[in-house]
Amino acid sequence: MIARPLARFDGGLRLPGHRAGKDAAPIRPCPLPPLLVVPLLQHAGAPALPCVEVGQTVQRGEPIGHAPSGLGAALHAPCSGRVRGIEARPVPHPSGLAQDCVLIEPDGHDTAAVLPPIADWIAAPASTLLDRLHAAGLVGLGGAAFPTDAKLAVPRHTLILNGAECEPWIGCDDALLRERAAEVIDGARLLARIVGATRCILAIEDDMPQALAALRAQPLPPGCELAVLPARYPQGGERQLIQALTGLEVPRGGLPRDLGVVVQNVATAAAAWRAVALGEALVERVVTVAGPGVRRPGNFRVRIGTPIAWLIEQAGGYTDSAARLLLGGPLMGLALPHDEFPVTKGSNCVLVLDAHTTRDSQPELPCIRCGECSRVCPARLLPQQLQAYARVLDVAQLDAHGLFDCIECGACDQVCPSHIPLVDWYRYAKAELRARGAADAEAKAAKRRFESRNARLEREAAEQAAQRAAKAAAPDAVQAAIERARKKRDSGFGIRDS
Ligand code: SF4
Ligand code: SF4
Repeated sequence: MIARPLARFDGGLRLPGHRAGKDAAPIRPCPLPPLLVVPLLQHAGAPALPCVEVGQTVQRGEPIGHAPSGLGAALHAPCSGRVRGIEARPVPHPSGLAQDCVLIEPDGHDTAAVLPPIADWIAAPASTLLDRLHAAGLVGLGGAAFPTDAKLAVPRHTLILNGAECEPWIGCDDALLRERAAEVIDGARLLARIVGATRCILAIEDDMPQALAALRAQPLPPGCELAVLPARYPQGGERQLIQALTGLEVPRGGLPRDLGVVVQNVATAAAAWRAVALGEALVERVVTVAGPGVRRPGNFRVRIGTPIAWLIEQAGGYTDSAARLLLGGPLMGLALPHDEFPVTKGSNCVLVLDAHTTRDSQPELPCIRCGECSRVCPARLLPQQLQAYARVLDVAQLDAHGLFDCIECGACDQVCPSHIPLVDWYRYAKAELRARGAADAEAKAAKRRFESRNARLEREAAEQAAQRAAKAAAPDAVQAAIERARKKRDSGFGIRDS
């Protein structure tokens, strides 16, 4: 069944496709590089705790980092080989700081260690399946890399599988659906079983005809339906997708679970099924290599930890016009200063733009109050007002204008005729406010510590005073005890002299 969208999300814009996967070329395997660099933190939460030593040999899929307590994910060796080091390396992160990574030298055999497959997963308890996703290091493959077991821990009535790649150039989910539609559908059954969902919607965009054909060739489980949405940016945003498919809006400051809905990427569903049914830990993913700056763009099956420079080489290397390297799409991607960063679990696209497709070269002009940015904002914000308040860090106005409701989709940037880097201002303001919030929290914690120390000192002083008073009364107590002993002896029940 093909469901029609019940509603359209607010704002948004139609962008030219540029999807690397549109030519329907098969996914290419990326060969193993001479060295894999596996960051301990490549997911939401705390870093994994390394559980291997330098010089140790490992097999593909063997744990190299345990999940920390609380939010986090386990890490596994992406190939068999030797641990060459555990050291700080540059990782793709907005902070730009180096982070600890496990370095693995492949041994050329690529022998695998798998977890015991759960063949009868359809009958297994949800807790067993969640434990398996945790053990396999599953995180969301749509980009946010949120640990999957944590996201699925609360029951929901509706599961949405997100196959809507809203940003231009990115085609990894399209390619996966074309080639592994059956795995995605099995993954949908599995995830629906875990959260107890009675309804599952598998959403793709109307410019993915081959993916749609592949999905339609598969039998859909009961309660599962396909939805084909008009390709409109940022359709793949969690809140926008929920609004388009259910007509419901996630409340301000709320989460999809407040509506009884959970959204998972299609690649996450396929990886979850492989972790459960085949016992495979998450050690590879499909990555789109795209843009006018690479010679042979396409979709690649890449081991986690593969250096981007190596991946670009497999795509034929850079063209002479390569000017800018991004991890992710052109609107929300992270600009990289060089290509020595590794592919992580959340890396969906490596994009190399040329001077014509790079907006940086255009000078910023004054705002002409055209209102275009407000028209396309999917969060119904006033972007031009927000950037004015962000420039002066007016906390009250930023809060009143919903700064933290901004999903940093960059739609406003895209349409601004004055080339104002609006999203850069929002990121700056959010970072400043978070830092101030952290400083406030630290000041409050210090005050609490000071007050609790004072209370403890007062309590100890009171206890000491009570002890002194008890000591002062002690002679009377001793005298009373002597008196009781004498009375006992006189009555004949006391201790007799031998
Ligand atoms: S689109 Fe740019 S110029 Fe137009 S109102 Fe928004 S910020 Fe100002
Ligand atoms: S980046 Fe923020 S303000 Fe700009 S369109 Fe997207 S949600 Fe709206």
